Amino acid sequence: MFNALIVSKDEEGKTHAAVEQIGEDRLPDGEVTVAVEYSTVNYKDGLCIGPGGGLVRNYPHVPGIDFAGTVETSADDRYKPGDKVVLTGWRVGEAHWGGYAQKARAKADWLVPLPDGLDTRQAMAVGTAGFTAMLAVMALEDHGIKSGPVLVCGAAGGVGSVATAILAKLGHEVAAVTGRPETADYLKSLGATQIVAREEINETVKRPLEGETWGGCVDAVGGAMLARVLGQMQYGASVAAVGLAGGAGLPATVIPFLLRGVNLLGIDSVMQPYENRLRAWKRIAKDLPMDKLESMVHPATLSDLPKLGSDILKGQVKGRIVVDVNA
Ligand code: NDP
Repeated sequence: MFNALIVSKDEEGKTHAAVEQIGEDRLPDGEVTVAVEYSTVNYKDGLCIGPGGGLVRNYPHVPGIDFAGTVETSADDRYKPGDKVVLTGWRVGEAHWGGYAQKARAKADWLVPLPDGLDTRQAMAVGTAGFTAMLAVMALEDHGIKSGPVLVCGAAGGVGSVATAILAKLGHEVAAVTGRPETADYLKSLGATQIVAREEINETVKRPLEGETWGGCVDAVGGAMLARVLGQMQYGASVAAVGLAGGAGLPATVIPFLLRGVNLLGIDSVMQPYENRLRAWKRIAKDLPMDKLESMVHPATLSDLPKLGSDILKGQVKGRIVVDVNA
C-alpha cells in the first residue's frame, strides 16, 4: 500500500482531493513502475486539483504532471531497477495518473534517464516549469538572441524564475517583468539586471511599434502583455511564448512581424520527442546554477497540495514548489 492524492468526483459533479492509501493494482498500465520521490506544483496541476478539473480525463484521478524517482520494475530494456528517471509531459497527471503518489506507472517512452549532475530533488525543483524555460531559451538560441536585454514576463513564477537564472548564467542581460514589486530582490538574486513593473508593460499604447528594446523574450503571460512586447522587440528578435497566466487572447497587429521580422515561437513541453527532452535535461544540468535553483524552492507534502493548487491559480506562488511525496 502507498499514499496518493486522489481527486474524485461526487454525484453532483463536485471534486474532492484527499490523501489515501491505495494498492499497486490500482496503478494504470505502463512498462515501468517508479518509486516516486518528488513531484512539483505547476499551473496545470492547480487546474487538475481544483474544482474545475477541466484537464482531467478520468476520475478518480492522481494529478501531478511531473515526477522524479527510482525505477522499481521495468518491462522495457532501456530501464532497470535502481535507475533514476524523470518524467514531464505526455498528459501524465491529466489523462494518465501522475506524480502525486509514492508510486507511478508510465510508458517507458515518456521517461528520461536523469542526467549526471542532477538528483531527483533538483530535477523536480526544475520540473515542468523549468524544463519549459530551458526549451524556451533553446528556441531563442536557435533563432539568434540579439544584443540588448532579454525580457522575461511573469518572472517571479516557476517558468520565469528558471528562465531568468538560465539566461543570466549564459551571460545575457535579463529584464524581469513582475507584478509583485516585493520579489525584486529575489529576481536580482537570480541574475536579473533590470526589474520592469507589470503596469509599465500593460499600459495601453495605440502604436503597434515602439522603440527596439528587447533582444529576446520568454513570455509566460500572454494576453495584452505579449501583444505590447511584440512591438518592443529588436529587428529580427524572437519571443518564446510559453504560457497564458495573463490571458489567452492576443490583441496584437501583424505589424511587428511584417516591419520588424519578429518571430513568435510557440513552446510546447508536453509532446516533446525523447531526443529533445534528453538534450534539454542535459542543458539544464550544465547551464542552470544549482545554488540559484535552491533559492527558488519551497518544500511541500502531499497533504499541502489542495491549498497550493489554488494558490498557483491566483498567481501567488513564487519560484518552484517541490513536493516530497514520502514526507
Ligand atoms: P506561475 O503561476 O508560477 O507563474 C506565472 C506568473 O505569471 C506569475 O507568477 C505572475 O508573475 C505572472 N502572472 C500571473 N497572472 C498574471 C496576470 N493576470 N497578468 C500578468 N502576469 C501575470 O506559473 P508557471 O510559471 O508554472 O506557468 C506559467 C504559464 O506557463 C502558465 O500559463 C502555464 O500553464 C504555462 N506553462 C506552459 C508550458 C508549456 O509546455 N507551454 C509548460 C509549463 C507551464 P509575477 O508575479 O512575476 O508578475
